[in-house]
Amino acid sequence: MSTQTKTALVTGASRGIGAAIATRLAKDGLNVIVNYAGSEAAAAKVVAEIEKSGGKAVAAQADVADPAAVKRMFDLADSAFGGVDVLINNAGIMKLSALAEADDALIDSQIDINLKGSINTMREAAKRLRDGGRIVNLSSSVATLKFETYGIYAATKGAIEVLTGILAKEMRGRGITVNAVAPGPTGTELFLDGKPEAVIEKLSKANPLERLGTPKDIANAVAFLAGPDGGWINGQVLRANGGMV
Ligand code: NAP
Repeated sequence: MSTQTKTALVTGASRGIGAAIATRLAKDGLNVIVNYAGSEAAAAKVVAEIEKSGGKAVAAQADVADPAAVKRMFDLADSAFGGVDVLINNAGIMKLSALAEADDALIDSQIDINLKGSINTMREAAKRLRDGGRIVNLSSSVATLKFETYGIYAATKGAIEVLTGILAKEMRGRGITVNAVAPGPTGTELFLDGKPEAVIEKLSKANPLERLGTPKDIANAVAFLAGPDGGWINGQVLRANGGMV
């Protein structure tokens, strides 16, 4: 068995769930590429935190919606750590609107970042991930709960779940697993920003554990699928939502 230190590329790792995943995977002994789009200082802070705990990390600016930028990020991972073993497709945005009121920018931005962004990184990973690797895509529990106003966002996540199964099959023979984690409401800017307190309270209590998920809850689920214990799980969606079914 190879003793080479594995490398994880975590998209959208400057804050929220991605930052928790990056620090957790570093704690598990992986080198980490900390991707961000605009939050350079926040990404640098995540890298510094990892290094302070004895891990290795490099920040990489790339808009995942831009295929050339994604390619450059994988090149950077090659030169920093010799290749990529684990891709975590976490970068995402959420903009809510009933379909009738959804403007083009709301539709295009979510499709570009959530769906095309994940396609760009999955395509690159499908060509370049080292054998025995892992891909974990971030879906959302709304892909199945189908809340009103979440339509475009949920549609991008539903598509990610479909791609998860298909890419798992396409990786046949390489020992690479492809899975998705679908969080429920989780205490990050993406969920909390612009929501009235009463809505946050209601959604916090919608699962039988009666609290919001934390980035760490989600990182734990991702780390399981990205690590050796998750090796027999392939092509699946793990709904990490405290029982919001
Ligand atoms: P967040 O706190 O808003 O963080 C989003 C991250 O994505 C940031 O690091 C951001 O980096 C990055 N990002 C945004 N656009 C990007 C782009 N074009 N290219 C590269 N990076 C980009 O969000 P979060 O709540 O942690 O969500 C993480 C993932 O979990 C998302 O896919 C989301 O859909 C999913 N999820 C979240 C929840 C929830 O309740 N929070 C529930 C279900 C699923 P910059 O700051 O540099 O832009």
